[in-house]
Amino acid sequence: MTLLLWSCNEKKGDKIPVEEKEFEYLVDQFADIKILRYQIPGFEELTLKEKKLVYYLTQAGLAGRDIMWDQNYRHNLKIRKALENVYASFSGDKTTDDWKAFEVYLKRIWFSNGIHHHYSNDKIKPLFSTEYLKYLLAETDITLEDEAFKVIFNDEDNKKVNKKKGVDNVALSAVNFYGPTITDADVETFYKTAYKGPEGRPIEVGLNSTLIRENGKLVEKVWKSGGLYGSAIDQVIMWLEKAKEVAENEKQTKSLGLLIEYYKTGSLETWDEYCIEWATSTEGNIDWMNGFIEVYNDPKGYRGSYEGIVEIKDFDMSKKMAVLSEYAQWFEDNSPLMDAHKKDSVIGVTYKTVNVAGEAGDSSPSTPIGVNLPNSNWIRQQHGSKSVSLGNIIDAYNNVGGTGKLKEFAHDTEEIELEEKYGKLADKLHTALHEVIGHASGKINKGVGEPKETLKNYRSTIEEGRADLVGLYYLMDPKLQELGLVDDWEKLGKAAYDGYIRNGLMTQLVRINLGDDIEEDHMVNRQWVSAWAFEKGKADQVIEKVVKDGKTYYNINDYAKLRDLFGQLLRESQRIKSEGDFKAAQDLVEGYGVKVDQAIHAEVLKRNEQFKSAPYSGFVNPVLMPETNDAGEIIDIKIMQPENFEIQMMDYAKNYSFLTD
Ligand SMILES: [Zn+2]
Repeated sequence: MTLLLWSCNEKKGDKIPVEEKEFEYLVDQFADIKILRYQIPGFEELTLKEKKLVYYLTQAGLAGRDIMWDQNYRHNLKIRKALENVYASFSGDKTTDDWKAFEVYLKRIWFSNGIHHHYSNDKIKPLFSTEYLKYLLAETDITLEDEAFKVIFNDEDNKKVNKKKGVDNVALSAVNFYGPTITDADVETFYKTAYKGPEGRPIEVGLNSTLIRENGKLVEKVWKSGGLYGSAIDQVIMWLEKAKEVAENEKQTKSLGLLIEYYKTGSLETWDEYCIEWATSTEGNIDWMNGFIEVYNDPKGYRGSYEGIVEIKDFDMSKKMAVLSEYAQWFEDNSPLMDAHKKDSVIGVTYKTVNVAGEAGDSSPSTPIGVNLPNSNWIRQQHGSKSVSLGNIIDAYNNVGGTGKLKEFAHDTEEIELEEKYGKLADKLHTALHEVIGHASGKINKGVGEPKETLKNYRSTIEEGRADLVGLYYLMDPKLQELGLVDDWEKLGKAAYDGYIRNGLMTQLVRINLGDDIEEDHMVNRQWVSAWAFEKGKADQVIEKVVKDGKTYYNINDYAKLRDLFGQLLRESQRIKSEGDFKAAQDLVEGYGVKVDQAIHAEVLKRNEQFKSAPYSGFVNPVLMPETNDAGEIIDIKIMQPENFEIQMMDYAKNYSFLTD
């Protein structure tokens, strides 16, 4: 293992000279991807026991890494293993374009946890030929079964997740959550009569299983010890057991115990018990998320992708966020929602900014910047939820880019200056408001089902857009200044609105190809929020489309009116969720969120060419290295940084390949 010692934290007596050297965020760049590093502020201040807890939890996360690969596509592990073996043992000419294309392809699938693009869900096209891969395999004496080989190059299983309307989403999605012959109708039939948990406490049906047809009958193959993915889950359990022994308090011990029990039994009621224990376990400096959690990769929204994140509290930012949380009821009471959709008491909204110490599965290398869990609505309502912003990840993103792009797409110097001065804080506060206040706000009408039943494929984008709107509405509010969160609420609000509109109507388009629709839930919501506000404010020129020297800009003329429009749309999106109005959700998303203005898109891509920066970023994880004494006991844990992306990926393959077949 080749590692760089991270030398910013002063360690006395260290042999390596400590310099005030700037941390190198950028590790690698290929295709549309940037690989970054992140630091773990606060790690050195932890006690040995706390460091051990962090270490065991990160190991637990990594132990399940291959589950995500198999969930994403049935041939992923076979393909990855063959290509990694080639990568490790090929001794021929590595200066050719073919070899370089092979390396890029391997890095791309490492990044996506499979052969489909992590964001667009399209199958990644290799830039080498079938003959070349055959040659590499022959040279290295490695076999790859025929179907897995062919699928790298052919047109089958082209889309990992297909959420388009009017087609069989299950049959047309390559994701490995459903057996080969399962259709949309099968899934709907199965879950119409499936056990859904006790009255008023619905379990997350289907969360931890693959649905297949066996002897003509639909059955769930549960992911648990002794079940599907059992060999990897046993490793996760082994590390969780160790973590449990060094937990910071009784609640942590109890929740880790429940998580272990859940992995052993596969019981979704135990999962709920765990989620309650975990959500209410708010003491302690260390936290984690681990399990089958986000359901974005399932076209039907049932099955959770495996992930693990380990976090250390960010004490400074936490203080600020606690203020928002404390005033959650004020925000609910003063929001533009219809009275019937407001919560009388917003319960248990906790929010912390944390620093990530390790990620795995669904959250690595591509990572979220904020997380809000648990997902179960009744648990959130009755027991509260935890919401965190991943501070060091956001910092790494912010520090790696320059200001060139801002200058290209911003309308005027005031916009640039405001962004430079307030942009960072605006982003942080938007994430905080979105998570703390946004996801916690509003209630579903009595008798109306869960959004995944009522809003179906539009559930995620409506929820994300709604939470974004709560944030937008309050980003332009003197209350933030009154609470001591900003020094000039109006300037911060302007920077926030400029940034949101610039991104929602223009710059986010650099992430997709000309001619494609927008499909990713968050991108879709940013566009429907922005495009709706643009259209509704058109008569008053609230947002003005300006063309200067052949370049288009969206300039906000009236921030107060824009705030009002955001408020109206917030009210409407909450109504859609509260009433389960599928038709309105569909009209909003399809009407404003999915289709792209082709002329603008072409222009944006052209203007963006000068900034060769890749549109997607992800991270290598710092490596936690235990130091042991002669008795084999851990006496300290040091943080190292991986030298490059491929070393970390090969290292993971070597140490965490727990699924065999
Ligand atoms: Zn969200």
